[in-house]
Amino acid sequence: QTIRDYLRYASSRFAASELYFGHGTDNVWDEAVQLVLRSVSLPLENNTLFLDARLTREERQRILERIERRIKERIPVAYLLGEAWFMGMPFHVDERVLVPRSPIGELLENGLQPWLAEKHVERVLDLCTGSGCIGIGAASVFEDAEVDLSDISADALEVAGSNIDFHGVRDRVHLVQSDVFDNIEGRYDVILSNPPYVDAGDLASMPEEYQHEPELGLAAGEDGLDIAHRIIAQALDHLTPGGLLIVEVGNSWVALDEAYPDLPLTWLDFENGGNGVFLLTEDA
Ligand code: GLN
Repeated sequence: QTIRDYLRYASSRFAASELYFGHGTDNVWDEAVQLVLRSVSLPLENNTLFLDARLTREERQRILERIERRIKERIPVAYLLGEAWFMGMPFHVDERVLVPRSPIGELLENGLQPWLAEKHVERVLDLCTGSGCIGIGAASVFEDAEVDLSDISADALEVAGSNIDFHGVRDRVHLVQSDVFDNIEGRYDVILSNPPYVDAGDLASMPEEYQHEPELGLAAGEDGLDIAHRIIAQALDHLTPGGLLIVEVGNSWVALDEAYPDLPLTWLDFENGGNGVFLLTEDA
């Protein structure tokens, strides 16, 4: 009858099912907490305060239904709730965009000091923005920067637009529909991107949760590098002097290193299944 009972029930059901975690949560317990508490609009912080709260019949039904759908249909919790958390901020999400997750969030929160100590960031671009989480997260870090969110998908831009409004940053966060840099004008101090980077082999063998995500946001050709190559090829035309490009890539990042011996690429390995982030500085 209480939140505690449903947390126990959800986590034991999840533990007994072959679920994939990694779409915003990474374990059974976090998944249960998010599903149960957010299904009844309770905050995720200080959640022990609510453990003994009793649920109404309607709330119990909603929670049970979502637990079943999570397990049977393998729908990521973020889509069941219509929200996800990134850099400590909530974002609207649905199946038009990937569930927010990227080591770029951690970099923005605490990893960029060596590069940004001297730099005043005036313009930021989030390429392949999806829900807008990286760019809107960046807007919270660079408090007076103008930020452009771009995506090839009009559907994604609708979701990103709803997140711009949700965070009240319409005055300085803008949408641009663009296939990589095709409609992007001018130069940026920081360009961020979590582009599609899944190779054909991995795409065929991903956990079922990925079937609910738009393939456009994941697939990037035979080696997973189609979009990364396009980004690198044009990045220098869109960075200010001293500007920084940060791109998330997958397992095949080593091939990029070999392909651009003359570019000042820096690699950061986040040890999460081989995914990495590379940094390119314009005048380094
Ligand atoms: N393997 C990556 C992930 O699940 C794929 C995301 C992407 O293509 N950008 O996060």
